Amino acid sequence: MAEIQIKNVAKKFGTYQALHDINLTVADQEFMVLLGASGCGKTTLLRIVAGLETATTGEIWIGGRRVDHLAPKDRGIAMVFQNYAVFPHLTVFENIGFGLRMQKLPNDEVKRRVERTATLMHIEQLLKRYSGELSGGQRQRVAVARALAMEPDVILMDEPLSNLDALLRLEMRAELKGVLADSKTTTIYVTHDQVEAMSLADRISVMHQGRIVQAATPIEVYRNPAAEFVASFIGNPPMNFLNATPMGAGKWRVAGQLMDGPNTEKAALQFAIRPEDLRPAETGLIATAKVVEPLGAHLLVTCDVDGSSFRAVLDSDLTVRPGDKLTLAPQPDRVRWFDPETTLAIA
Ligand code: ATP
Repeated sequence: MAEIQIKNVAKKFGTYQALHDINLTVADQEFMVLLGASGCGKTTLLRIVAGLETATTGEIWIGGRRVDHLAPKDRGIAMVFQNYAVFPHLTVFENIGFGLRMQKLPNDEVKRRVERTATLMHIEQLLKRYSGELSGGQRQRVAVARALAMEPDVILMDEPLSNLDALLRLEMRAELKGVLADSKTTTIYVTHDQVEAMSLADRISVMHQGRIVQAATPIEVYRNPAAEFVASFIGNPPMNFLNATPMGAGKWRVAGQLMDGPNTEKAALQFAIRPEDLRPAETGLIATAKVVEPLGAHLLVTCDVDGSSFRAVLDSDLTVRPGDKLTLAPQPDRVRWFDPETTLAIA
């Protein structure tokens, strides 16, 4: 069992509060992604779990054992970091097998594991090459293979695919997902790439300004964002927002239209809908098309709705020109509402 518990972890660099009271439990064998914009504290949190950074307050537990006073090597984890410390004067084989030799595993076992993980990462043809001669993307794959070869209970990865070109990245993402699903490893994976996060994660922890704003399954984060930040960070193009004013008895005025909404006493709410959850219809939000982008699979239309910029992802067979008036009906079960004071979702 390798459950990871992060308890009340805070981190200050001087007077700068990089992390505020983080509480997170990653279940045994779960794939947890930390997702957030640059500077939100993802790497700092991962480094604290790894033991490369000390928390100002709080505790880290792995597999029921408190580890925050232990050196990284004694925490039972393998790591892949952005700078993927691959030794340039060693061959790829020696690099991948490095940790296994340290553990004094028999030669045939080292060979078996090195060859298996090198094949998984598509670098089996590079085993005899010196790592110093490799491209950034190749070295990154060596670093991932080295971590996987350890067959660890816990693996921590910080943007392990960041140096790969788009196609290889897509391929490696699928490979990694398969490998880690089979390996019974508990994973924490840092990325700022939301597609990567959605594709890999059992759960995503969305981070913002040193806090976890929401920790939930990818579909939950997408469909039911807990806060406006999550709604606008996840999804490309992001969710649309419009001001809503109360008309009583759960009715709200949104861009001149009357809509059913939450029955609360609030003086204002934010109405939110994803661009793909809008359809041209007889009644709905009145929009004027501004920019029309045919993206192949669909049509992305940026419009003006009551003075706000608003995007709709429509069927690519539709003909829409800039200046056209559209009536866009939001799919009722996909509408979300946020409290503008707290920025949190209304349940
Ligand atoms: P990125 O995606 O750019 O790596 P991140 O979300 O991983 O970003 P962190 O590297 O965890 O962000 O940094 C969080 C904040 O803490 C940033 O504002 C950063 O400048 C600050 N920070 C990180 N390490 C240190 C340090 N050693 N000393 C001072 N400030 C630091």
